[in-house]
Amino acid sequence: MNIAGVPASEVLAELDQRRATEPDVHAARLFGLVYPSGRDDLEALFFEVHRRYLFHNALNPFKFPEIAALETEVVQMTGALLNVPDAGGGTMTSGGTESILMSMLVNRERANARGIERPQIVAPYSAHPAYAKAAHYFGMDLVSAPLDDHWRVDVREMAKLVGPSTAVLVASAFSYPHGVMDPVADVAALAAESGIGCHVDACVGGFVLPFLERLGRDVPAWDFRVEGVTEISADVHKFGYVPKGASVILHRDPDWSSHQVFLYDRWPAGLYGSPAIMGARPAAPIATAWAAMRYLGLDGYTEIMRDLMATVVKIRRGLESMTGVEIVGEPIGPVLALHSSTIDLYAVGDVMDQRGWNLNRNVEPRGLHMMLSPAHAMVADELLADFADAVANHSESKGVEARYS
Ligand SMILES: *Cc1c(COP(=O)(O)O)cnc(C)c1O
Repeated sequence: MNIAGVPASEVLAELDQRRATEPDVHAARLFGLVYPSGRDDLEALFFEVHRRYLFHNALNPFKFPEIAALETEVVQMTGALLNVPDAGGGTMTSGGTESILMSMLVNRERANARGIERPQIVAPYSAHPAYAKAAHYFGMDLVSAPLDDHWRVDVREMAKLVGPSTAVLVASAFSYPHGVMDPVADVAALAAESGIGCHVDACVGGFVLPFLERLGRDVPAWDFRVEGVTEISADVHKFGYVPKGASVILHRDPDWSSHQVFLYDRWPAGLYGSPAIMGARPAAPIATAWAAMRYLGLDGYTEIMRDLMATVVKIRRGLESMTGVEIVGEPIGPVLALHSSTIDLYAVGDVMDQRGWNLNRNVEPRGLHMMLSPAHAMVADELLADFADAVANHSESKGVEARYS
């Protein structure tokens, strides 16, 4: 640290300069890392909410009962969206990873209570790495179930992997790598038959699928209406459009809180309780999630989804019209995984990078990955024109790897 401080204007100027070297989060040239709504009214609301809650701490519900109530209302609104039974419950967390960690912890505890010493998570090969992280953190084993020809988990193969130590099965609704729905009903039935948990990972789909259903689209059953689904994770900081730090984990069974909530009173400062991993917790993500839901309502979210799907269809058609470019599987929402057996899409990705698009690479099948957000509507034509040009004019791939960190 410098000995003397510097004026605030200088601090901000330096930050602006440093920020300018990185992708603009509003320019709709990023995919997956941010989910811009393209809505100035929403962003203005989020700024105001953040200003009001910047310094609060959601750790102590006795001191800040209204923050606790806001969290409860976000959990209830999300629960209603995903049809959780009245007896169910859950909490907000900092993100999809923490939601998944909490679910795996609860499933581990349930398995431990049944006498299973080292419980297993059986998850599709396409499941998010957070399940591997949970296994690593909580002394569980991750067993990877293969995918079928449509990039969905192969439930017959999954059934062969279920053994006496299996604690929980995972299905994605929908998957991050390919944007396809796993056969949730079949996975949940297998779990119910085996007397174990079924976590549906709707981190990305949780605020997409209910609105697709409201739009009259064909959405296979995937939420708590499916018997056997015990947990669902849904990220507000993805297609709920709020800034990072907001997710919801929901449990069907009322025993969740005894396993998820940590209580401790053997230290000098009295009873300490915490529902998830974080101790001190920012209140702004809670208040912002609440504000977004109150402001948009079901109709507001549904309208945004209608426009987003129009953009998805436009970009999908445009890409499919390019010779050699294929869409992987049958994506249900805003994820398009691209593959080609004639074009080196990594080389196409290099050209797109040079033009300021930040397309992610997929390893399997080798290709590119587009997580489309509402703000991509304003760049769809430019994206397609650049992509067509890159398909026509690229050299060898520079070997940029598929990676997130
Ligand atoms: C984003 C995502 C996660 C992890 O969420 P984070 O908020 O990044 O921790 C888990 N599963 C799926 C399907 C996701 O898309």
